[in-house]
Amino acid sequence: MSIKKIVKYGDAVLRRPSKEVSKISKKIQTLVHDLLDTMYAKNGVGLAAPQIGENLRVFVIDVSTGNQPLHPIVFINPKIIKKSGACSSYEGCLSFPDAYTDVKRYANVMVKALDIHGKPFTIEGKDGSLLARAIQHEFDHLDGILFIDHCRSTFEANRILTEKGLEPVEEDKLLSEPEIEKELESIPSNPGETILANGEKKPEDEA
Ligand code: ZN
Repeated sequence: MSIKKIVKYGDAVLRRPSKEVSKISKKIQTLVHDLLDTMYAKNGVGLAAPQIGENLRVFVIDVSTGNQPLHPIVFINPKIIKKSGACSSYEGCLSFPDAYTDVKRYANVMVKALDIHGKPFTIEGKDGSLLARAIQHEFDHLDGILFIDHCRSTFEANRILTEKGLEPVEEDKLLSEPEIEKELESIPSNPGETILANGEKKPEDEA
């Protein structure tokens, strides 16, 4: 188990679709522990295998805060089985140091996955909670999708990316999300401050 180097935006591994895990071998269990060690070392709320250079369908999340005990959740071969509603909030990513932008997400998401022992489980993130958003963020990594592909304003996203010395958004990767956009029409884009979807989103949350 070790802390791995995080792959940064611009590396092709982040855009490559990841493969299903065929067997939860010792190698996969080591990968899970490396993901957890690296996520905690970097104070992230989530980390996906491609972010440490492995194109496998594995990610970890821990949305516990402050003095709460650690609560790691391991997702292997996850499938999103239900999604609904819409929300918008500032997101960051450990592969994009210090860059945050306003992104569109579903408010509710239900996912089925295998845990580190290969046991299936189902988990639901609701009401635009950090868990709901982290699941979508990490799940996207497995399909080569990045949070900036969901940005509400390309102009604003490019401003912050440039400021942090990162490449601008890839226009051909921007997602058309009419379902979410329609629901979000009533929620103004507010690049000046973090939109507190549930009161627990902090600007330093990076996934
Ligand atoms: Zn990320």
